[in-house]
Amino acid sequence: MVGIVIVSHSAKLAAGVRELAAQMAREPVPIAIAAGIDDPENPFGTDPMQVYQAIESLYDDTGVVVLMDLGSAVMSAEMALEFVEPDKRSNVILCEAPLVEGAIAAVVQAAGGATLDRVIAEAREAIAPKASQIKASAPPTASSEPEQTQQGDRPPSNRHEIVLPVLNTLGIHARPAAKLVQIANRFSCEISLRNCSKDTQAINAKSINQVTTLGVRQGDEIEIAARGKDALPALAALQELVENRFGESEKPAPKTQQPAIAAGEVQSDEIRGTPVSPGIAIAPVVRYEPAIPDVTHLQGDNPEDEWQQLHFAIQTARRQIQVLGHKIANREDAGIFAAHKLFLKDPALLEIARECIFQHHYSAAAAWKQAIDKIVADYEALDDPYLKSRASDVKDVGLRVLRLLIDVRGISLELPQPGILVAPELKPSEVAQLNPEKVRAICTAVGGANNHSAILARSLGIPAVMGIGASLARLTEGTAIALDGETGQVWVQPQPDRIAQLQDKLAAKAATAKLPRQTKTADGRRIGIQANIVGVAGAKAALDMGADGVGLLRTEFLYLDRPHPPSEEEQVDLYQAIAATLEEKPLTIRTLDIGGDKPVPYLDLEPEANPFLGLRGIRLLLEFPELLKTQLRAILRVSHRYPVQVMFPTIALLCELRAAKQILAEVQEQLRSHGIRFDEGMGVGITIEVPSAVEIADRLAPEVDFFSIGTNDLSQYAIAADRTHPKVAHLADAFEPAVLRAIARTVQAAHHAKIKVAVCGELAAFPEATPILLGLGVDELSMNPTAIPGVKSVISRLTVDRAEAIAAAVLQLDSAAAVKAYLPEKIRD
Ligand code: PEP
Ligand code: MG
Repeated sequence: MVGIVIVSHSAKLAAGVRELAAQMAREPVPIAIAAGIDDPENPFGTDPMQVYQAIESLYDDTGVVVLMDLGSAVMSAEMALEFVEPDKRSNVILCEAPLVEGAIAAVVQAAGGATLDRVIAEAREAIAPKASQIKASAPPTASSEPEQTQQGDRPPSNRHEIVLPVLNTLGIHARPAAKLVQIANRFSCEISLRNCSKDTQAINAKSINQVTTLGVRQGDEIEIAARGKDALPALAALQELVENRFGESEKPAPKTQQPAIAAGEVQSDEIRGTPVSPGIAIAPVVRYEPAIPDVTHLQGDNPEDEWQQLHFAIQTARRQIQVLGHKIANREDAGIFAAHKLFLKDPALLEIARECIFQHHYSAAAAWKQAIDKIVADYEALDDPYLKSRASDVKDVGLRVLRLLIDVRGISLELPQPGILVAPELKPSEVAQLNPEKVRAICTAVGGANNHSAILARSLGIPAVMGIGASLARLTEGTAIALDGETGQVWVQPQPDRIAQLQDKLAAKAATAKLPRQTKTADGRRIGIQANIVGVAGAKAALDMGADGVGLLRTEFLYLDRPHPPSEEEQVDLYQAIAATLEEKPLTIRTLDIGGDKPVPYLDLEPEANPFLGLRGIRLLLEFPELLKTQLRAILRVSHRYPVQVMFPTIALLCELRAAKQILAEVQEQLRSHGIRFDEGMGVGITIEVPSAVEIADRLAPEVDFFSIGTNDLSQYAIAADRTHPKVAHLADAFEPAVLRAIARTVQAAHHAKIKVAVCGELAAFPEATPILLGLGVDELSMNPTAIPGVKSVISRLTVDRAEAIAAAVLQLDSAAAVKAYLPEKIRD
């Protein structure tokens, strides 16, 4: 039986059509739906992959008829057809019949066992009864078509046009262009756009790149022309959009709100983001815009396969962008990601790639690069600095797809000169390679205080402000800016008085940093102050800030974004370089802590439904013992010359600790048998960050040399709130009495077994938490280097009695908010 596929922008509409059609047929007919998209905010749209899957789900050689609603549904169906294997393709017909009438007619015919041709013919004819009924009852109008219009003739030209001034301040930049294209795509008519003020050629209004590169500024007049049956409603919708200034809230802009500041003009302008790493920097902007790398594999083997590959990559990139967009709290800024998604659907872009693949036999990657280069060049040729800077959006999106097609690695983050690194987003692996001597600060469009990129920036001592959203476009290459990572403020071309004020603040901080090296409470109790770091630069920052050593060397960033794990030698070199920088101070190396949430291509991990509860930390290492053995060998070899200790992450059960120690013993034995020297007494510890480990801390403690409490994970696991989830992450607050009580119990168990206990989670970096942790008996605090002066200063002004009284009191409070409110004003300040 012929199968029917219904393609619609709306899942509900498609389901309704299926239901209606099915109940008209005597026999059940195979009907599949491809409708709506996976976007909770705007579920209307079509996805070529869904259409392809729908076709595949019911394909047999009798044939398949695809019926679509309008606009991009047609494009999605056409793309889907290209995914279908060539020998099946002639049996899949895209039918231009109206969706409802066509579906009913097709289903009825199919149910009766009609051939593919018959089903299509019936579907095409389905509009006739309605047309003749309406014609018969409608009064003649001036615009009625003359009788002589023959079936098959091209309908007479029904082109309509409007000319409108563009009133919004920024003209048709990325977001207005995205809105215009989205509306244009809702209509099936051809829509073109012309900038009359610049006397440009007409371009396709359904192409985001063509619309943006039209260079429409405030005050320009545009001509919108539409041809086709829904031309008039299309023009009305677009007119409304333009007249409503593209829905942009136009606060009467002070001079400083202008999009770009010409070189030499003295203006001061403030942008606010999320403060994620303290510190002040005043330096020029260095934009991180990775160049699109050269593609070496130029020729494709089979155009069909290449085209299919490209489409899979584009769909995956769209999903990635969607996820990023959801992480953005501000709806205006989320619009940027909507624009990025539109780039990926742009007919102009896809056409270039298609031509390269089918006419010039390019590989998918080479064709995509060619298309992106062309569009980037179009943007870069524009005079308007604001629109010109949109080229970076196209590069960003282009690179995202290219990364899915080829192994794009090794893009250097080495800054040509010192500056403030400005980027749409930085991955943890990218932050980890930054050189704090060149990167004075980081400023990104997305990101918040608790993501790993932020944690790493703090570890490296690099001031950072994240989540500035669309304001990123105003930070053009070379512009002088000032940034305060403690308040989240960024100033574009700061005035001399602002610079003076920031320099005063810097001087005050430097004075605090000159505290005595050893940290003691006012009544003489010694507290170990250590640093959390990721590399040699972090080790330097730790020393500069007065750390007694490194309490947590996160090693996972050595393992990410690369095709093979680091070799033993590579690890020895790195650990040794860090240990040497620390000048004999102790170094605690945590073995690899990664899991299903961070892709590690060479491990071939299955995607997990609950990555934080899956193969993570020690469990992953026990699953891949060779990985652990290599790392332990490297750590042991360094222990021969430097004071190093090892720490196993995310231990939840005694058996996990024992299995890890067993592997350590095997590696030690192996080294001994090869005559390789290591420290036989090297300390072995574990992180306490899983509630079960707190419960059995009394059993774990006698088997290790130290505990280090990871409050970031302990909070998320104890409170069952994913630390990366935008809606619940705030609940995983380490100031919650539930978490503080877990710390108290862990300390008791550790001290009972006469081992030391540190806190290495972010809680240790909060001066407000210092009295609590001291009062609970914690021996060492390990934190990002920049937090050290503040915490040291609190310790030196505190007595043990006072700290114990505060700790005992907060354990009895009701919530994190109550704990924070309780802390004495002086300490909070
Ligand atoms: C923690 O969980 O507190 C911790 C220090 O580890 P990470 O943040 O690297 O998971
Ligand atoms: Mg952790």
